Amino acid sequence: MNSLVSDRLRGIAVGAAVGDALGMPLEFGLASPPEKLITSMLPGRLPAGSFTDDTEMALALAESLLAVRGLDPADLAQRFAEWYRRNPPDVGIHTSSVLHRICTGENWQDAARGVQAKEPDSAGNGSVMRCWPAAIAAWQNENLILQFSRLQSQVTHTHEECCAGCAFVNDMLYHLICGKSLFDAYAAALREVELPEGLAQTVRLAPHRKREELRNTGWVRHTIESALWGLLNTYSFEDALIQVINLGADADTAGAVAGALAGAAYGLEAIPDGWKKTLRGEWPLRSGKIWSVKELITLADNLAGCGDPDSRKPLN
Ligand SMILES: [Mg+2]
Repeated sequence: MNSLVSDRLRGIAVGAAVGDALGMPLEFGLASPPEKLITSMLPGRLPAGSFTDDTEMALALAESLLAVRGLDPADLAQRFAEWYRRNPPDVGIHTSSVLHRICTGENWQDAARGVQAKEPDSAGNGSVMRCWPAAIAAWQNENLILQFSRLQSQVTHTHEECCAGCAFVNDMLYHLICGKSLFDAYAAALREVELPEGLAQTVRLAPHRKREELRNTGWVRHTIESALWGLLNTYSFEDALIQVINLGADADTAGAVAGALAGAAYGLEAIPDGWKKTLRGEWPLRSGKIWSVKELITLADNLAGCGDPDSRKPLN
């Protein structure tokens, strides 16, 4: 693997966690005034630089991909349930309902479908926030990325907009890893990933939105809209993330999605050192083990291509 690709793959893992941690203190708040944007990692419910459930669930997905060397939804469901049993300080309502049922012995299909059936229109951002490890694990295989992206969503979020949203974000990651620009990756994913009409319309209009139009709620459409708006109206990792997290509301999740994409576009080296140095998070939860950038880099290196049988064949 050349060093540019490796820098992009590492940039995805570190960028997502950095975006999550930057947004953490701004979650549930109002948008910052445009002349007073937050540009550093501040303490919130957790110490400054702490990542949250977005990154924790991504790490569970990453470890499942590494253990299985592919995507096994039953293994993933058990890892999410194990995380949930450790009483995470942050967990989305929909995710919590599904994982509660899995913890009481229900299989993941019935749990996920049962919760969705009670609220058929619910399409939260709980699966798109954690989907990036699938793009690293199958980075050379676009079809496999699309398949993994949708399947990892179905373990908790079965709504078509959630599954398609994960496929879209990870397809953009695929094109960015291959070296396309942000705009070209966006255009390619729009051409190649089938989106339900409502989500497709949101994705098409996102770069043209005005800041004050963005709601940035926990709806998957809003998260993808905010991330695309920030990425396609700026020219650096730093500026993209500052724009997105300062939208407030579900700031950490929009930050995580924008961070993964910006990390792939600009690479690990483009992520500001001050942010990288402050980043921290306990993983596994309640284990006392604190992760920093170093552990995320090792994870990205181990994860690269691990889920793709073709990339594991010897080259000669
Ligand atoms: Mg969170």
